[in-house]
Order: sequence, then C-alpha cells, then structure tokens
Amino acid sequence: MKTVTNEISKACSVIPGKMALPNQYFAGRVGSRFIISLRDSKKILGVKCPKCKTVYVPPMECCQKDMTKIDENWVELGDTGVLVNYTVVNYRDAHLPRKTPYILGMIQMDGAEATLVHLVEGVDPQNVKIGMRVKVVFAGKTTNTILDIDHFEPIEE
Ligand SMILES: [Zn+2]
Repeated sequence: MKTVTNEISKACSVIPGKMALPNQYFAGRVGSRFIISLRDSKKILGVKCPKCKTVYVPPMECCQKDMTKIDENWVELGDTGVLVNYTVVNYRDAHLPRKTPYILGMIQMDGAEATLVHLVEGVDPQNVKIGMRVKVVFAGKTTNTILDIDHFEPIEE
C-alpha cells in the first residue's frame, strides 16, 4: 500500500479540466418581483426610497444613501436609459452568453440610480460610447431570469 501511495505522489501532475456547474439561487424578495415583472408584463420596475426619493433599478431592499428600508415602494420605469460604462469582452468561454467580442454595459435606466449590467448589441465594439442612449430589447422567450431582457441597443436620435 505504501508503495502504491509513493508511486501516486511521484506521478502527480495537474490536469486541466472543466466542470459544468448548474446552480440556482434565490433572487431575493425584491429581485424576484423585478424578474417576475419582466417575465409576465415586460415592465421594468424599480423601488423608490420613501425618505430621499432615489429610485433604484435593479431594486434594492435598502437605500444606499440613507439605509432606509425600501419596502414595496414600487415604481414603473420606461425602457430607456444611458450607457454609463462598458467593457468589450474578448475572453472566450463556453458559459458566456454571446460569441466574443461583445459589449457588456452598465446601464442607468432613465429616472433611476444604480446600474444594470447587461449586454449591449447593435453597435460595433469600436463605436460604442459612454453616454449613448439605449433601450431595452426583450427576449422572445422567457428564461425567468434577467435575460428576459435580451439586450440593450442604441436609440437612433
Ligand atoms: Zn434614501
């Protein structure tokens, strides 16, 4: 037995591999309502702090400015916003949502603070600009996730 163990430790090497790791987690009370609204009525919901009136999309349970608990104070937003930052993803991996290169943007919905991180399509990576006006494009088929927003695309103005 000892000999076998020694043989194994001498033969140790690193073998690269991949594991598919399906998982799920609870989106949270407000996160769930947000996703259900996307799924069932294609509406973007935010929450409004009763104290400072800041609107958050994605919704949060507590105001980031004054820590007030935001409880069921929902507001409906439009489907437009502004690209406040972005990155161009060039790293290829099987779990990524699109073929590279693609744009991953931080979008601030009109009338809200905080940002949604989502795909931006309909513009070449070399032409994307911070400050671009964008709008939601809903997915044709629901996945009951944030990907019920398929992507954002520039608004022609
Ligand atoms: Zn507040």
